[in-house]
Amino acid sequence: MNSLFDLTGKVAVVTGGSTGLGAGMSLGLAEAGADIVLVDRVASIETEQNIKALGRQSMVVVADLSKRESPQEIIKTVIDKFGRIDILINNAGIIRRTPAVDFSEKDWDEVMMINSRSAFFMCQLAGREMMKQKKGKIINVASLLSFQGGILVPSYAASKAAIAQITKSLANEWAQYGINVNAIAPGYMATNNTKALREDAVRSKAILDRIPAARWGMPEDLKGAAIFLASSASDYVNGHVLVVDGGWLAR
Ligand code: NAD
Repeated sequence: MNSLFDLTGKVAVVTGGSTGLGAGMSLGLAEAGADIVLVDRVASIETEQNIKALGRQSMVVVADLSKRESPQEIIKTVIDKFGRIDILINNAGIIRRTPAVDFSEKDWDEVMMINSRSAFFMCQLAGREMMKQKKGKIINVASLLSFQGGILVPSYAASKAAIAQITKSLANEWAQYGINVNAIAPGYMATNNTKALREDAVRSKAILDRIPAARWGMPEDLKGAAIFLASSASDYVNGHVLVVDGGWLAR
């Protein structure tokens, strides 16, 4: 591994790391040398085993990020075990699809809670540790809906716009402490999150027709961006939202 991208000995915490994009990015960081703490409300033995098969340490922390106390408990567990946090990927996220006129308060609150509120407090608590270390890398998972309104997903679009702004706001405060706060905005990726879209023949075709790369993205497609933003290759990159979308936004 080129030393610019080498993550040997780094401790990375990845929320929602059991499946989908979180699992893909976790494997990417492990391939680059990092030990991985997988935080999820459901534990995935498969992802943990895949990381261990690469010769890295892996630990699963089962936690529900819809609970206010979870960020504090998660960070304490990681510090007790490893004594440090080098990389945080705030990836856990949910989506609710309903026309705005019928959108419930419950769906609004749950999405905002997990996608933006818990992500901010994970940043705050990890940031305090990173300040002591005088180094750290935080990667928030944004979306194309950080830039666009989407269809039938008002709370998701609001939460992802918020995560892009949280990223920039924290980057402005923390760059001086050697902490890089950036985001990855994935395009349309084949995961559980987009199952309903991919099963809707009309929406699925409309989406695919607009992607210049002519395919849905896969979890592996985020590995390079995650390694870049987690490594010293990005030491002078602050507050950037890196779009990985097969060209969608360029059209
Ligand atoms: P996914 O549903 O496959 O994975 C989400 C993960 O988050 C799961 O492992 C789930 O268990 C975990 N999670 C959900 N709620 C949680 C909670 N309360 N506490 C702890 N963990 C919880 O979806 P994905 O596509 O891999 O999504 C990952 C991230 O990428 C999300 O933030 C999503 O909004 C974002 N994203 C996805 C796409 C896409 O096209 N799939 C596009 C842009 C952004």
